[in-house]
Amino acid sequence: AKRAGGNRAMEFAHALREQARQRSATENELRRAVHADELFVVYQPVVSLRNGRVEAVEALVRWRHPVRGLVSPVDFIGIAEETGLIVEVGAFVLREACRQFMRWQRQHGTRAPALMAVNLSRGQLPHPSLVDDVAAIIEATGMRPGQLQLEVTESMAAQDAAVQTRLRDLKRLGLTLALDDFGTGYSSLASLHQLPVDVLKIDRSFVSQLETSRHHRVLVESTVRVAQSLALRTVAEGIETEAQAGMLAAMQCDKGQGYHFARPLGVAEFDAWLQARP
Ligand code: C2E
Ligand code: CA
Ligand code: CA
Ligand code: CA
Repeated sequence: AKRAGGNRAMEFAHALREQARQRSATENELRRAVHADELFVVYQPVVSLRNGRVEAVEALVRWRHPVRGLVSPVDFIGIAEETGLIVEVGAFVLREACRQFMRWQRQHGTRAPALMAVNLSRGQLPHPSLVDDVAAIIEATGMRPGQLQLEVTESMAAQDAAVQTRLRDLKRLGLTLALDDFGTGYSSLASLHQLPVDVLKIDRSFVSQLETSRHHRVLVESTVRVAQSLALRTVAEGIETEAQAGMLAAMQCDKGQGYHFARPLGVAEFDAWLQARP
């Protein structure tokens, strides 16, 4: 038994070393990727559930790795956070998204999305120059601050006083904040009024069960009600079916996002998608 335990310990140590090796390989490659044009941004439309109009787009980062192919943000945002590279990745996405937003304004006029949503990562918040950097990008691109929405998760927004202050400083620039993945974190409906957010994004895990679970229907409906009473806008994430869109519209959820409307699209794809709409 002792021997087996020893082997297991060695296997464990080996697995840890292997994990660390892969991690540092990814770290080095990500460091390079930021400067080698391997990162790019795709855009997912956010649509009004009332009238079908394109209200916004959410910018989502992608990494085209020369060997590994397309790497999902789920597989590198965490490493970017741990290594501090998130500051550069975040700045890249924000700059790129704001520039693209202004291109669409010029190209499509009133048909262009009126809002650009960009994800903010936990690791970006404590960075002392965050607010100045965001202000500089808005200024450089000529965007109106109200056309930018930053998305933070519940666990980020519900953190300490310093984080809350930082979020309020961001809002003071004139942009709006959305609470991402609502329902998956630990802040409850009851504590929503304390968070400096304007929009609530209902997590996909609730939307995907709307058709099959009464419990989830009730939860989503109450979430929309409470949001309304706090004058927060609601966006449902991960809408994949007509039925889900219909139920959410009936609950008076404001906007929807999901494969039912469009997947995250490259710029040319987005232009074609927009042109094809009535
Ligand atoms: P998120 O912010 O919750 O973004 C929504 C995710 O759901 C996206 O995954 C999107 O492609 C996916 N999605 C949208 N509609 C549907 C649907 O109908 N069905 C399903 N199954 N999925 C749908 P993606 O692009 O892989 O991003 C995953 C997460 O990675 C994001 O979740 C966000 O937390 C993070 N992320 C992505 N881009 C960025 C970025 O530029 N900065 C930061 N900090 N995080 C990012
Ligand atoms: Ca998001
Ligand atoms: Ca989300
Ligand atoms: Ca999510």
